[in-house]
Amino acid sequence: MHSFNRKLNPPEIARSLAIQVNTFVDQLIIPNEPLLAQEGDLSLRLQFDLANKARLVGLYGLYYPLSQGGKITSLEDYLVVAEQAGRTEFAQTIFGNHMALDAHMLVKYGNDPVCQQFLQPMINGNAIPGYSITEPGQNRSIPSLIKASARLSNGKWHINGRKWFVSNTDRATFMTILVRTAGEDVPIDKALSMIIVPTNTPGFKIERQLTVMGHSSSQGEISLNEVQVPEQNLLGTCGSGIQLVKNRLNLDRLLSAMNWVGLAQRCLDLMAAQTNSLSDTANRLASKQRIHRHILNAYQEILSARELIRIAAKSIDAQNPNTIAINVAKMAASRALCIASDSVMQLYDTEGFSDESLLFRIDRIARTSRILDDNDETLMSSIERRTINVIYNEAPFL
Ligand SMILES: Cc1cc2nc3c(=O)[nH]c(=O)nc-3n(C[C@H](O)[C@H](O)[C@H](O)COP(=O)(O)OP(=O)(O)OC[C@H]3O[C@@H](n4cnc5c(N)ncnc54)[C@H](O)[C@@H]3O)c2cc1C
Repeated sequence: MHSFNRKLNPPEIARSLAIQVNTFVDQLIIPNEPLLAQEGDLSLRLQFDLANKARLVGLYGLYYPLSQGGKITSLEDYLVVAEQAGRTEFAQTIFGNHMALDAHMLVKYGNDPVCQQFLQPMINGNAIPGYSITEPGQNRSIPSLIKASARLSNGKWHINGRKWFVSNTDRATFMTILVRTAGEDVPIDKALSMIIVPTNTPGFKIERQLTVMGHSSSQGEISLNEVQVPEQNLLGTCGSGIQLVKNRLNLDRLLSAMNWVGLAQRCLDLMAAQTNSLSDTANRLASKQRIHRHILNAYQEILSARELIRIAAKSIDAQNPNTIAINVAKMAASRALCIASDSVMQLYDTEGFSDESLLFRIDRIARTSRILDDNDETLMSSIERRTINVIYNEAPFL
């Protein structure tokens, strides 16, 4: 018998929220995208207005920890929501997708004063985080080459260094910064730490905003010159920086991957719209085999990325993150987005090549996805190494 007023189970709650996010994106964000994509304060103000609207209707920070107002605890359940939000490139700001990452890190590794000073204002919409690891001028993915440093003196960290490609530089009110807190003689897995710096601290300077592939972005270059913050601004324990980065990246890569699949799906929808459009009666793209190939390829990539993300998400839900599965899922989502965005540009022809075009903007995101949160090559090397180890350890005599 059908039971009305039955309490929804967690996957049903997530699906219902995904439908609401889908409507919000279609009705309030997509029509405003041309304005949101413009450079300057107007766009930023509109993003914040829309974020407030999302907050009012209960669609902001859905993957925050439950203790901080989140509504979904399982990353696997969250996939359907993140995909819907990810259909627009402005999801990060408007739905607080990536702030969920900082919320989880602060809840897990922040002490009480840190939570009060940074987490609570962020949850209330009065603070914005940034996160900076990458340094200019060297092969930065190698942790032993991190140059930014912090030394403790009289209860304060004194921080010096330079970072770049820091997302949210133009809006962050605080930043979590990876710094060296021990000398060269200490093993690297005990030599780095993460420290929180309010961006209005004397000595903190935005050197410049960076353009990414010809377009102004939220990424910037910052310098820290004898910046002083209280000892308590340390996240986790002193020397635990590498472990914290790993934990953060696991979640970061999956949250990004979920959004990218959403954007890839939007490309697929746009392809379908183009091939079925009335203006296409002369070309009849829908009847061309090469067009079918574009659509089929994108569809296959999206489907497999989605399932790989699901597998990886389950491992995080089970508190046993499978790094191989996470990295494979991240690369699969990036690949799905690259293929879908390339195909949709091909189908829309000249329309996709204007600097202001949505397709060109998606293509930029697709290209950077192969670099962001570690480039494909680094991830592939790590997967190959670890896969061989796993095979060897599980079946040493084969
Ligand atoms: C849009 C955007 C936003 C970003 N936001 C942030 C942010 O908020 N905070 C932050 O700290 N950083 C951020 N970054 C930086 C980004 O995370 C790094 O650039 C990325 O992780 C790659 O690290 P790297 O620059 O140190 O590359 P490197 O390690 O210097 O590698 C450079 C190149 O060398 C090659 N390579 C490296 N290792 C191998 C290998 N093992 N085998 C073969 N080839 C290899 C690859 O082709 C690689 O691309 C952002 C970058 C972009 C594009």
